Amino acid sequence: MDHQPATDAVVVGGGVIGLGIAWRAATAGLSVAVVDEAPGQGASWAAAGMLAPVTEVHYGERPLLALNLAAADRWPGFAAEVEEAAGRPVGYRPSGTLAVARDADDLAALEDLYRFQRDSGLEVERLRSRECRQLEPGLHPRIRGGVLAAGDHQVDNRALVLALLAACERAGVRLVAGRAAELAGDGDRVTGVVLAGGERLDAGAVVLAAGCWSGGLGGLAAEALPPVRPVKGQLLYLRGPADQPLCQRNVRGLEVYVVPRGDGRVVVGATVEEQGFDTRATAGAVHDLLRAALELLPDAAELELAETVVGLRPGSPDNAPMIGPAGPDGLVVATGHYRNGILLTPVTADAVAELLATGRVPEPIAPFGPSRFAAAGTGRSATPPQGGGAPTGRVAQGGMGRSALSTGGRGS
Ligand SMILES: Cc1cc2nc3c(=O)[nH]c(=O)nc-3n(C[C@H](O)[C@H](O)[C@H](O)COP(=O)(O)OP(=O)(O)OC[C@H]3O[C@@H](n4cnc5c(N)ncnc54)[C@H](O)[C@@H]3O)c2cc1C
Repeated sequence: MDHQPATDAVVVGGGVIGLGIAWRAATAGLSVAVVDEAPGQGASWAAAGMLAPVTEVHYGERPLLALNLAAADRWPGFAAEVEEAAGRPVGYRPSGTLAVARDADDLAALEDLYRFQRDSGLEVERLRSRECRQLEPGLHPRIRGGVLAAGDHQVDNRALVLALLAACERAGVRLVAGRAAELAGDGDRVTGVVLAGGERLDAGAVVLAAGCWSGGLGGLAAEALPPVRPVKGQLLYLRGPADQPLCQRNVRGLEVYVVPRGDGRVVVGATVEEQGFDTRATAGAVHDLLRAALELLPDAAELELAETVVGLRPGSPDNAPMIGPAGPDGLVVATGHYRNGILLTPVTADAVAELLATGRVPEPIAPFGPSRFAAAGTGRSATPPQGGGAPTGRVAQGGMGRSALSTGGRGS
């Protein structure tokens, strides 16, 4: 007799990616469970929430740019739908982003990036110093010029997490508080997960969406798991009066970005560090982020330092996500969203929900299948379909990025 699992899909990991998939799959009529002992507390809670396909563009990442732009297009509708389903706001703010240069070196880097953005057909406008200060009067008088990316917006990622949790509950998603220890298998097929306490959850499909921890599950050969790694990011929350905003738009420099939430909270980020699973906030990072922010917006000095935050981005070998069927039947991977996971939530959630419902890989995610890394039997050594490459070991800050001109090393 065929074994009929009680659940169509079990999602391992309740960050924005897992919750978004679970919600969309449940509204498509599937029965869904999400396993996570601390849902929403990973990178999704730590992020800055920028929706920034244009100012985050990197040389050699064209397929990712197309996916990021598709995701940004979906955001207004997605935000409205989540809010409707959850009965609470997600803080989507079509604020736009202003990238600025402090000195001649910055200006040269900004010019290069501007030309690349313009040649890529992106919506950017080059502004003189005076024009920048007209838009953002709080900018330092020494700012040399800027580039306005009017379509790069933001969402309050913490509000998004809470709204997706509420939307999942209302859609009938079962939230299982626990840690998946192993994938359960039956020959070449994944049939569910085994929790750390020994309980087994059978399912027609398992979605592995455990962020930077996605490579650590038992039950499969290591090379069948996605080659994801933690990339540490530190950022700060500042707080001031809501009626005297530091700035209106996201403001980015070479070494820092400043994201005003519109309610007095201001996010200042972020480091990009290859430090494994280390989650300590460091004095040096706080110092560097504050120094760089004050060089752009001096009035930030008057704000309260409200919180230091550390998160682990799920990095992939080519900086692009891994989304789609993986290895054994019944296993779907959705991880490696690195510095753009908040931006990519709508497109990932829709595509994976469709994949679960129909068995077909939707077009937007087709170039991002996890099997692109499965060459040479190692699961980790394939040539990626695009440039990019992992950032190197040292600490780099994440604004618009001098190293945008080489290989990563900055970002949201
Ligand atoms: C400092 C910082 C700034 C960022 N800024 C931006 C930004 O401005 N814009 C943007 O688009 N992106 C940004 N990002 C990236 C973004 O946060 C991530 O790409 C995104 O949150 C990844 O979501 P996720 O659901 O895959 O992972 P996570 O949010 O990390 O969720 C993974 C979940 O899996 C769970 N889990 C782990 N192991 C198991 C297990 N064995 N069983 C069950 N559950 C498990 C964890 O508890 C966690 O809840 C930023 C990231 C950082 C760190």
